Amino acid sequence: MPNKIIIAIDGFSSCGKSTLAKALAKSLAYVFIDTGAMYRAVALYFMRHEIAFNDIAAIEKAIQSIQLHFAFNEATGKSDMYLNGENVEAAIREMKVSQKVSEVAAIAAVRDFAVAQQQAMGEQKGIVMDGRDIGTVVFPKAELKIFVTADPLVRAERRFKELQATQPTITMEEVAENLTHRDLIDSTREHSPLKQAEDALVLDNTHLNQEEQFTIALNWAKERIEA
Ligand code: C5P
Repeated sequence: MPNKIIIAIDGFSSCGKSTLAKALAKSLAYVFIDTGAMYRAVALYFMRHEIAFNDIAAIEKAIQSIQLHFAFNEATGKSDMYLNGENVEAAIREMKVSQKVSEVAAIAAVRDFAVAQQQAMGEQKGIVMDGRDIGTVVFPKAELKIFVTADPLVRAERRFKELQATQPTITMEEVAENLTHRDLIDSTREHSPLKQAEDALVLDNTHLNQEEQFTIALNWAKERIEA
């Protein structure tokens, strides 16, 4: 049996982390975990239950009522996020959630809740996890850490095209603003800010297509698996 490793993929919003993580997981027969979906689901729960983001007592209580799980969706080839048994995959991608998620993800109690589950998912290794703090906090000993970057304008254009399919009224300005807003909160927050792990390999995909970035990352993964 080949050696199973943990692959941690971090980077700014909409730079293709999930696409890469999903392709790597498929090729290696590993489990892919989109940790952003977990923070989005918690944000959705808080919004639905009108939990104030500065009410720590209410947040700690609310978290005890949240159950998250992923289930594979054959049609998309990706796992969908479930919040207390409900498939919330579409709801968590809506702009109203994108606008609030970074505030929710900056709350220490929320991070503790999500990180504990993420670490448990990686116990058996054979996992590709993408997020903001995977290589720095969740799996600081991951065998392969990739920090993905891309030009902000290119990121906004890609995201806009992707969202247009399901949210036709969305504008390029809204998308670009949301990315800037989330990147700022994510990289300046007190708890587990987004930053490149010292031992991460940087993958700038501004001028790469999905296939090209996948080939580079797969070679890195194979080197680690065969080491
Ligand atoms: O990956 P995605 O863009 O869906 O993540 C949504 C938000 O969740 C990010 O903007 C960030 O605020 C938060 N997040 C995080 N830590 C992670 C993954 C996501 O703080 N590991």
